[in-house]
Amino acid sequence: MGKKIELECISCHHRFHYEKPILECPVCGETILQAKYDLESLRRTGWGTKIRQRPPGLWRYYELLPLYNRANIVTMGEGGTPLLPAANLGVMLGMKYLYIKDERQGPTGSFKDRQASVAISVLKEMGAQEAVVASTGNVAIAYAAYAARAGIKLWAFVTSLVPGDKMREAAIYGAEVIKVTGTYDQTKVVAAQFARKKGLFVERGIKSIAAVESMKTLAFEIAEQLGWRAPDWYIQSVSGGMGPIGVAKGFKELVELGLIEKVPAIGVVQSAGCAPMVRAFKAGQGVATPVENPKTLIITLATGNPGRAYELIWDHVREYGGYMEEVSDQEAFEAMHILAKMDGMSVEPAAAVAFAGLFKMVRAGIIKPDDVVVVNASGHTFPVEKQILGDRWARDVDVSQVAEKVALPEEGLLSALEQIRESVHKVVIIEDNADAARLLGRILKARGDYEVHIAKGGREGIEMAHKVRPDLIITDLMMPDVDGFQVIDMLKADEKLEDVPIIVITAKELTVQERERLNRQITTLLQKGSFLDEELLQGIVDALSKS
Ligand SMILES: *Cc1c(COP(=O)(O)O)cnc(C)c1O
Ligand SMILES: [Zn+2]
Repeated sequence: MGKKIELECISCHHRFHYEKPILECPVCGETILQAKYDLESLRRTGWGTKIRQRPPGLWRYYELLPLYNRANIVTMGEGGTPLLPAANLGVMLGMKYLYIKDERQGPTGSFKDRQASVAISVLKEMGAQEAVVASTGNVAIAYAAYAARAGIKLWAFVTSLVPGDKMREAAIYGAEVIKVTGTYDQTKVVAAQFARKKGLFVERGIKSIAAVESMKTLAFEIAEQLGWRAPDWYIQSVSGGMGPIGVAKGFKELVELGLIEKVPAIGVVQSAGCAPMVRAFKAGQGVATPVENPKTLIITLATGNPGRAYELIWDHVREYGGYMEEVSDQEAFEAMHILAKMDGMSVEPAAAVAFAGLFKMVRAGIIKPDDVVVVNASGHTFPVEKQILGDRWARDVDVSQVAEKVALPEEGLLSALEQIRESVHKVVIIEDNADAARLLGRILKARGDYEVHIAKGGREGIEMAHKVRPDLIITDLMMPDVDGFQVIDMLKADEKLEDVPIIVITAKELTVQERERLNRQITTLLQKGSFLDEELLQGIVDALSKS
């Protein structure tokens, strides 16, 4: 069956046959055009059932991608990435359905592999020999790899701020890498001028059909992986906004195909040093003011002028819900460490921005504990880890001096042992959620000499406290038998235990009275969703030093 693809102008809605990429609407000159497929006949012929039998990967959605001949597909197994439950992070945030779309697993380590596969395939179909891209790093790397496979020469214009390791990665594939001293927005202009002079195709971001269409496949996969369901939220770190625009289009097509019921809200997270979309969103504006000089170390996200991409996302957010948040570089680096240490995933700082934004949105109650949330882990640390970790990733121990002294004086050894004993702190955790309790215990043990005892309820907790005589008690408030408030009252009424510091961790919304009552009795109050392990540890250190 021949494929039928049309383009529709987003301004005048003129619709015409799609043959190959064109620059503008022939009627009104609009530069943003949208690909339209015959969804009705795909629906009738059971497309949703058909694709289930196909191998994983982006090209299983071939009918909804802008290519006419399968022979032109340039693929390296992109797409088909796992949707992983973020078990530990979820417990920590008090969220039940938190998932991570692991886009680090693309052939070049970021979700730009989707874009490169579709865009380079389309270039091959057009018979292009050379192409031009402007990039903040990952597009250059992904396009360079796929262009190499297709035998297309790539000119990659990158800002001089892109980490050297990333430039080298693009160059490995034989791309011509041109460093532009200036911002990313200026780099785009230089790249476009170069392409015009040489008469070459230039990748045009959201104006490129192939690029937007490629990002739809994220939505297709997420819905399928959730059992043909849309999540409540799709959250992503955003630079130019291609991801959310494509993903939103993908979910809408699935609704039209009758495969899912709704379109998710979109969470856009930007780096505070370059957050034109967030600023406009928070000011309630439909148009974003460009940031002239981005001030962020996270160059991947340094698109200062989002142009019309913002308007498209703004429209989506108003119709289907969503939110935009900014995070500092520091918050992103912290999120990077938290994600790696909690759930074993090392992401590049640009991807960590999404997680730092998630933490803020959960904390602010914008994302609810029962929401089904998918966060895009958009890129791997691999080319940039040195930039972030420096050379401090391992500790050197020089044993030569110690070895010469043969035996350490016994006195020293004994007092050293003594000191270790001193630093052991007994902690009783009273928590009915076994996962949460286990995780708290794990965090404590990983960070110090804590002897951890876990009680599954209030009554058991009191008994355990009597037996163990802990230095610290951590308790939940909502428990089936004796609740946290009663536990605290009982501890405070017991002269043997009244001085033991108490930390309360709860997901409960507290009334003013409850909060006052707790403040008089306990040392630290942590709202689930508002604390991460650093905060918890600080709370413990404070509690113990006060006792
Ligand atoms: C490109 C990129 C982004 C931003 O994506 P857009 O949807 O184009 O704004 C986020 N994270 C990583 C790792 C990227 O490479
Ligand atoms: Zn038009």
